[in-house]
Amino acid sequence: MYAAKGRGKNNCVIFEVGMHAAALERLRLKADLQRSIEAEEFVLDYQPVVSLSSGEIRGIEALVRWQHPGRGLIAPTEFIPLAEETGAIIALGRWVLKTACLQTRLWQIEFPGHESLTLHVNVSARQLQETSIVDDVARMLLESRLEPGCLCLELTESVLMQNTASSIFKLKQLRDLGVRIFVDDFGTGYSSLSYLDTLPIDGLKIDKSFVDRMRSGFDDSTLAVAVIKLSRNLDLQAIAEGIETAEQAQRLRDLECDLGQGYFFAKPMAPEDVSAHLDSSLHRWSGEPHR
Ligand code: C2E
Ligand code: MG
Ligand code: MG
Repeated sequence: MYAAKGRGKNNCVIFEVGMHAAALERLRLKADLQRSIEAEEFVLDYQPVVSLSSGEIRGIEALVRWQHPGRGLIAPTEFIPLAEETGAIIALGRWVLKTACLQTRLWQIEFPGHESLTLHVNVSARQLQETSIVDDVARMLLESRLEPGCLCLELTESVLMQNTASSIFKLKQLRDLGVRIFVDDFGTGYSSLSYLDTLPIDGLKIDKSFVDRMRSGFDDSTLAVAVIKLSRNLDLQAIAEGIETAEQAQRLRDLECDLGQGYFFAKPMAPEDVSAHLDSSLHRWSGEPHR
């Protein structure tokens, strides 16, 4: 059933023995989630968000990983959907928010020139449905003393399109706190453009698939150009995701895209590695990809 569901609606799949093992593994992980939150088995990596014009680090995105005692490091794409199903995402989301807000505030204090470093945190559908989300965010801001304007919450289009009335109400409350809202993976969902104008949002993250099309020799920037123009016209900030080459970075710079993120600049990394980057205040990303 899950294999069929994974292929979208109205699909059927013939049973194979391997699927049974995968389903069992899924069940085991699901059952293990609550325990792992209490056992603090999660870690955060952080990926820099860079000013494309100056090369300076402007922000960081917190990305959660599960350090499973038996299975090693598990990627969020594997366990976030399970955490959504079980509701464990609520406790996990609070932990992510708290840990990342405290860490970012420390970086702001420790590294001169980075006083307004922004933090990007991913928020999933179930978290936005929870009535406590606004209180949770307000409390974390207070506890960490992070300026609300330095916190950007990232939601995908499909999340924004679900339960629109109550979602919009909560997003407005979050914005009233001073928090900023970004649409993640913009262009891959199916939000109607007329809606975009009415949503309480501050920025768009241009999906990696559009950046991928900007290849040397076969440059198809049409869609990226359209999203950058759209964000400019709607007075939204644009962040290009998944920049992997110098050509892509240059092309986006030429298009006057504000900010970028991707392996070309830096992969998600442990907090101590972020500190090392912030420490070299004159650090600039050159033509060479950073490893
Ligand atoms: P996302 O928020 O769109 O994050 C970007 C993903 O692309 C990350 O994968 C990042 O490691 C990867 N990435 C960044 N630059 C490049 C690049 O240049 N090339 C390639 N190939 N990949 C790149 P990751 O860390 O596996 O996260 C996947 C997704 O899991 C995230 O997508 C986000 O939707 C979700 N996620 C991660 N952390 C959290 C969290 O704390 N809470 C929630 N609710 N979701 C999370
Ligand atoms: Mg994101
Ligand atoms: Mg994304």
